Amino acid sequence: MKNPENDFIPITAVEPLVRAVFLRVGCDDANASALARNIALAERDGSHSHGLFRLPGYLASLKSGKVRGHARPSVEQVTSAVIRVDGDCGYAPISHDVLEGPLLATVHSSGVALAAVVNTHHFSALWIEVERLAQFGLIAIACTSYKPAIPAAGGRRPVFGTNPLSFACPRPNGSPFVFDQASAMMARGDVMRAADAGIMLPDGVGLGPDGVPTNDPNLILKGCLLPFGGYKGAAIALMIELLAGPLIGEVLSVEAAVRDQVDGGPPRGGEFILVFDPFKIRRDHNFASHAEILFQEIASDVDARLPGEGRMKRRQEVAEKGVAVPPGIMAVLKEN
Ligand code: NDP
Repeated sequence: MKNPENDFIPITAVEPLVRAVFLRVGCDDANASALARNIALAERDGSHSHGLFRLPGYLASLKSGKVRGHARPSVEQVTSAVIRVDGDCGYAPISHDVLEGPLLATVHSSGVALAAVVNTHHFSALWIEVERLAQFGLIAIACTSYKPAIPAAGGRRPVFGTNPLSFACPRPNGSPFVFDQASAMMARGDVMRAADAGIMLPDGVGLGPDGVPTNDPNLILKGCLLPFGGYKGAAIALMIELLAGPLIGEVLSVEAAVRDQVDGGPPRGGEFILVFDPFKIRRDHNFASHAEILFQEIASDVDARLPGEGRMKRRQEVAEKGVAVPPGIMAVLKEN
């Protein structure tokens, strides 16, 4: 999906450039910094469908007033294991910054903690928040819903969002193990990038508006995406709807779409973040070394690879080559 007209900038340039853009459109320092850090991390690891590519959408919803650039998320300790985070209609990264301290205190005391994040707008990759928590020695699971994009098993009318689910756990020496996957066969952002680049998609990604399978990303964007793994992926998408919606007092994707003003940015909704402290649960420090038996077993199979290895490879490539910035995004970054 490489556009020959792209400019390349070093990864270190992304965060300050993006932060300046958010400050320019009226975000305060905390919100601009949280967003810029998040986008720079996505670009650092080659999550291009959730990095700079999303900048126009982020800006559109700030300008329309749907998302608040001065959001001040608040945290309520609901029980000894549950915290509720009201995102104050901001983007999710400012909520992640605000919830970190209370969530760590809660999980260290209870062994398990749930952050029910409500009133937020999630537009990014979820590995970012779970990896951050695993760096504290925790196991973390996060999921969120969106607007309808995927039908139920056997259906044609979208009812589930692309509903990503991410998981991270610590490893003894090095980066945490992380996976992060949409419930759709392919994330909508990647379908949009394929449409921009004029690339046909593999079989099984989606249906056109007529309900017929197609490889054309433009038709899929007018129709619907299919879940990964058929009815099994549809069940995961359904579970995420319930965890990130009704369980935490937030909306389903079908409800998010009704109240969303379609301005290019993400709808308002919730995020479910569940964290475990292995030390509290096992009463020793051996989770990571025990888990390593499995990772080493997988590594010893020459053909097998762990989720996350692709991201580490992309991180290396981005560090060497820089970040490819399409002309439209470069114009936004250079605007004064
Ligand atoms: P991918 O299908 O590219 O990857 C999903 C997971 O599988 C990753 O952890 C990836 O790790 C791993 N993986 C990929 N190829 C292999 C392989 N051959 N062997 C083993 N593991 C593999 O991502 P998706 O398209 O499903 O999702 C892309 C992103 O979109 C996610 O970050 C998600 O959070 C985001 N998203 C966000 C939404 C939102 O509302 N905010 C909505 C939907 C998606 P790796 O490639 O690093 O090895």
